[in-house]
Amino acid sequence: DTIGVHFDKAAARWPETEALVVRHQGVRWTYAEMKRRVDEIAAGFLALGLEPGDRVGIWSPNNAEWALTQFATAKAGLVLVNINPSYRLAELEYALTKVECKALVLADEFKTSNYIDMVRKLAPELDHCPPGALKAERLPDLKAVVHIGNDHIHGMYAFKELYEMAEDSHRARVAELAEKLQFDDPINIQFTSGTTGFPKGATLTHHNILNNGFFVAEAIRLGHGDRLCIPVPLYHCFGMVMGNLGCVTHGATMVYPGEAFDPLAVLETVEREKCTGLYGVPTMFIAQLDHPEFKSFNLSSLRTGIMAGSPCPIEVMKRVIAEMNMEEVTIAYGMTETSPVSFQTAADDELEARVSTVGRVQPHLEVKIVDLDGRIVPRGTAGELCTRGYSVMLGYWNDEEKTRESIDSAGWMHTGDLATLDEHGYCKIVGRIKDMVIRGGENIYPREIEEFLYRHPAVNDVQVIGVPDKKYGEELCACIRLREGHEATEEEIREFCKGQIAHYKIPRYIRFVDEFPMTVTGKVQKYVMRKHIAEDLG
Ligand code: ATP
Ligand code: MG
Repeated sequence: DTIGVHFDKAAARWPETEALVVRHQGVRWTYAEMKRRVDEIAAGFLALGLEPGDRVGIWSPNNAEWALTQFATAKAGLVLVNINPSYRLAELEYALTKVECKALVLADEFKTSNYIDMVRKLAPELDHCPPGALKAERLPDLKAVVHIGNDHIHGMYAFKELYEMAEDSHRARVAELAEKLQFDDPINIQFTSGTTGFPKGATLTHHNILNNGFFVAEAIRLGHGDRLCIPVPLYHCFGMVMGNLGCVTHGATMVYPGEAFDPLAVLETVEREKCTGLYGVPTMFIAQLDHPEFKSFNLSSLRTGIMAGSPCPIEVMKRVIAEMNMEEVTIAYGMTETSPVSFQTAADDELEARVSTVGRVQPHLEVKIVDLDGRIVPRGTAGELCTRGYSVMLGYWNDEEKTRESIDSAGWMHTGDLATLDEHGYCKIVGRIKDMVIRGGENIYPREIEEFLYRHPAVNDVQVIGVPDKKYGEELCACIRLREGHEATEEEIREFCKGQIAHYKIPRYIRFVDEFPMTVTGKVQKYVMRKHIAEDLG
């Protein structure tokens, strides 16, 4: 099926079930109600003059309009382009021009940024062009801008006008498209997180992401009647695929606790909406567990969920299971380029497997681990993880060369991650190839040292990186965020390591920091840290 056809089936099967709850907007729509809106907005997009295959950017934090746009563009055969809400002018311009967006849906403002003003700076022509007839010098492909707020803004459509613009001919066209669109048509361009450098635009099909949403939700045993709290960003596959598509393929309810992550809002939402599932990256779960009011919330409705996106510390997993009742919580591993998930633990895996591996490969995917020469390594040996199957993207948008670097001629996606597979197929992510530290010829996986340092009672969060060194090539540096009210010295940390881990793995440098440079997906940008520390050391 295409996403549109699938959404209609969900609405026919579960019309009275709540599809979407958005707390900060007071939205509560059943599947039937949401389908009615999705159909109107899809027709509205066609009324803007857009044609199937055209790219539509969305630049907004989480809200109901985001979800409507996701399903409406799918129905109209448009390619949704997820634009990071933290992007600023130069990045927005890059994203819009890179994929030649014909239309842009945007929030009016977010946090301290006024999006309307920013877009006006890129396209000052908005002030005198009628909406829908935009001709902007810097954004030559952009024809229409739709803003999500209520005010009338010159040169732009208001989102709710899309409901009024649709005519019967547009509605008929939407119905026709349901027959015509193919499941392997591109439907979505997502930019990678930019953890290791500049974000790349991965082109995904209905087939890629709809199936991935389905299998991910199967693994957490999501079903009709479940209510999934989605605090992760929708612009990223964690929210829009694992969250939204996971729910729609299972008749579950999508619950958004707010525009952007706030630990208190999540705890409140889970309690009041009686959520049965919760998603997050490790840093989000840490923020909830450490919130001073954590203990005052009743989280007994919770049962399942996913922690993913970056290495999931064992201690944090254990606390999530014990203190948040998430007995069936799973860890998932994936990347934007593979729709995203390729490995996931099972709800009934042994605790040990669930806290120390990313589980086994998803149904219908193939996996292999290879050395630098591309030869398959023995079980238990670390090498580059490669995956193949339904979930691998079409390619990076308009970037043949990068695509060929990642997907080989046999269809294997080279993930850039180092991993091991045990004899039962359980996979451990050892780190990124780019983050591996080579000290005096010895390969060191920072992850291993991070896991060890997490055991220190004063350590709240820790990142280990390699910094240039004249003698050894690279030396280790541990950057530590201490727990509130705790203290520690460099000496103490080193003492803690002595006799416990090999001497060459004991970080030469130890830095206490207040925060790490992060992507908005909640990932630590080690390449930024490496740069800072290297500058610091001269
Ligand atoms: P970029 O490719 O732009 O540098 P990115 O790789 O962080 O950024 P994403 O596609 O959002 O962009 O993230 C995928 C990566 O996240 C994986 O390649 C892997 O390194 C990491 N990752 C995801 N899940 C896990 C996990 N459970 N454990 C460890 N690492 C994970
Ligand atoms: Mg990547």
